[in-house]
Amino acid sequence: MKSILVIGGGLVGAACAFRLQQAGIRTILIDPGDKRRAASYGNAGHIGAEQVSPWATWSNVLRAPASSFALGGPLDFRWSDAGQVLPWASRFLRACDPGAAARGRAALSALLFDTMGAWRRLARDVSAPDLVLPHGHVTAWTSARGAERGRRSAERTNWGAATWRDLSSDELARYGPIMKRPPRAGILFSGTGQVRDPQGARDAILAAFVAIGGEIVAGKVARVDDGGAVALESGAAPRADAVLIAAGAWSGALMRQLGQAAPLIGERGYSVQSLQHDWPEDLPTTVFEQHFVVFSRFTSGLRATSCIEFGSPDAPGDTRKWRLLERRIGELGVRFSSTPDRWVGPRPTLPDYVPAIGRLARAPNVLYAFGHAHLGLTMCAATAEIIASIAVEREAPIDLRAFEIERFG
Ligand SMILES: Cc1cc2nc3c(=O)[nH]c(=O)nc-3n(C[C@H](O)[C@H](O)[C@H](O)COP(=O)(O)OP(=O)(O)OC[C@H]3O[C@@H](n4cnc5c(N)ncnc54)[C@H](O)[C@@H]3O)c2cc1C
Repeated sequence: MKSILVIGGGLVGAACAFRLQQAGIRTILIDPGDKRRAASYGNAGHIGAEQVSPWATWSNVLRAPASSFALGGPLDFRWSDAGQVLPWASRFLRACDPGAAARGRAALSALLFDTMGAWRRLARDVSAPDLVLPHGHVTAWTSARGAERGRRSAERTNWGAATWRDLSSDELARYGPIMKRPPRAGILFSGTGQVRDPQGARDAILAAFVAIGGEIVAGKVARVDDGGAVALESGAAPRADAVLIAAGAWSGALMRQLGQAAPLIGERGYSVQSLQHDWPEDLPTTVFEQHFVVFSRFTSGLRATSCIEFGSPDAPGDTRKWRLLERRIGELGVRFSSTPDRWVGPRPTLPDYVPAIGRLARAPNVLYAFGHAHLGLTMCAATAEIIASIAVEREAPIDLRAFEIERFG
């Protein structure tokens, strides 16, 4: 293959485009250019090497009612999108089968094993080695009972290559001056990290892509065919030997045009960000488990993220979700703007929570990389290395059978 069109300029598409161009393939990236539309814009920035267990498990199903939005939790469904949510949910329940969940865990473990390494290599190669902060992350609890339960659960959980230990009293004390309700206990993970800024990382990768000769075309792909030909909504029809579909939660519609089922749902998450805050630069991403809020300090501000709302990727935000998030921040007493930057975006989620990465069996000119759900920032660098190896017909660094989209028929 001498040239390729990459559809989608989120973190996955951007990282793949960079690695493809670097591998000597003339690469054109096509994206509408609205940064805030992508899930890659407003996420928590966490490099979650520890998340080797897919979310499709019976224990998560059993926990779901207690986490529902109606009861003050983060989990909700857009009933107006029931036509998309219900078929997805039925496949999700099938993926909870213990055998399927074990296969998912094996697949994610392989992909996540060297995810910090892949990020370091990507940061180095885009000449931004300080993009990655390898300082782990914290899960914290504000009550003794929550801490006891959370710690017990942490002991039972498979965290892949990541390890954890209890926070020392000095480490816990760092939260005292920045919160009215600081944690009573917490654990610090090693082998995980964060990026300095999610959009900053995406910008750096795209700039490096252009610097090595890559081309970015602003536009939305309307049609793709099984020869890899593409037509934009504008009528333009850029040409290349192959195409990579990396359009996040919007990839399903493009795959359908190729006769391939890709049952993606928009697993919508919410964030708010404040320029005013007291969060120290070196305090890692912290998950307040009982409050369903994650705080991440970025160069662009302090961000709090929450919510899982299944529905259409394009639906407008639900103001109640931002209000819930802001209430939680208030309860914890973290200094934050009273008019934060509110954002909503769709995690691209397949029913088994395992991404789709590979070459389409029925149309070998079509490669795909989407469905990274909660871990697209985490896995974009490793995914890009895999896509480049497929494109140059080199053996992939891991066994890719579990990632084939054909598993959905
Ligand atoms: C609140 C929240 C917190 C999160 N926290 C984390 C985290 O801490 N760590 C982590 O690893 N992950 C996290 N995620 C998940 C992560 O953000 C996503 O998995 C990741 O951004 C997906 O990247 P992507 O490139 O596949 O898709 P996107 O970032 O959504 O990008 C897709 C791009 O394709 C474009 N596109 C769509 N259709 C077309 C078309 N027809 N033609 C051309 N372009 C098109 C879109 O405009 C968009 O720019 C979080 C997500 C949310 C919502």
